Amino acid sequence: RRLDSRSGISAGLLVEIQTPISSEPMESVYEVTGELGRGKFAVVKRCVEKGTGKVFAAKFLRKRRRGRDCRAEVIHEMAVLEMARNNARVVNLHAAYETDHDIVLLLEYAAGGEIFDHCVSEELLPEAQITRLIRQMLEGVHYLHQSNLVHLDLKPQNILLTSLSPPGDIKIVDFGLARRLGAVGELREILGTPEYVAPEILNYEPITTATDLWSVGVIAYMLVTGESPFAGDDKQETYLNVSQVNVDYSREAFSRVSELAVDFVRKLLVKAPEDRPSAADCMSHPWLWQHQFCLSPEPSPTSTRTVRERSCGAKWTAPPED
Ligand code: ADP
Ligand code: MG
Repeated sequence: RRLDSRSGISAGLLVEIQTPISSEPMESVYEVTGELGRGKFAVVKRCVEKGTGKVFAAKFLRKRRRGRDCRAEVIHEMAVLEMARNNARVVNLHAAYETDHDIVLLLEYAAGGEIFDHCVSEELLPEAQITRLIRQMLEGVHYLHQSNLVHLDLKPQNILLTSLSPPGDIKIVDFGLARRLGAVGELREILGTPEYVAPEILNYEPITTATDLWSVGVIAYMLVTGESPFAGDDKQETYLNVSQVNVDYSREAFSRVSELAVDFVRKLLVKAPEDRPSAADCMSHPWLWQHQFCLSPEPSPTSTRTVRERSCGAKWTAPPED
């Protein structure tokens, strides 16, 4: 059993895409410039559409990984992005190209970088900004879950911002590990990054939408405290911290924020997946709304209107029923 393994995955992959994959040289349409980020099998570069001057992020995904043909995984990632295309909290897929080694996804550019940079203790965001970003993240997660999709790799490196300062709106990226639930049988896979994965993943127990909500709890903890709640000195220690839900809720860690923040995180970092609130439940938590009148109103994407209307109308103590 290995963590962070992207090989040997075949179940539950989507195979149908609408976006054509062009074999034309993308250099004739785009000028590829600097690197924005990279992972194990992908490099993301900034690029400019020559005709319009519009900026995109080009994610170069290797077709062969560890000697294996992984085209199906890339097609799956495209298909998930297409399924979530109507939600403003999920990065938009603009076009796709194919080269000898890569499939290149031209993605909407998120100029503000990763929210990871706001999880570093020196430069934490004000509480009102944190709750705004978490509400947006929950809107996106709720949309995915309604479509029976689970992200399974939610972490501060995969939540981007449209602008840096002041912080813009969030865009969820990196659907490489995302899966469709309920197709054939249960989903049990060892995926993700130890620091951010839920206990059920470590224990090889069934994966559900609640798995993503654990990660939302970890991200919220990090935005609020500037610390990763389960990170140990080594992998073993991290696993142990996760499986024992060993979390520091001390006053010192949460000195900057209201008591409600602790309550929000506590409700998500719960070992039993069935005891965690859903994304819609979370939206009615009072912590997320206490500062809402301090900020200018944000445009609400039509597709998540139900959540917003429901939670605005609901009493704080009564989560909306599904
Ligand atoms: P990987 O699967 O290798 O983790 P990601 O899709 O997470 O690939 O992209 C890697 C990094 O590239 C991200 O963490 C982010 O820093 C950057 N990146 C990805 N997509 C975009 C985008 N649309 N706009 C700006 N930066 C991006
Ligand atoms: Mg990533």
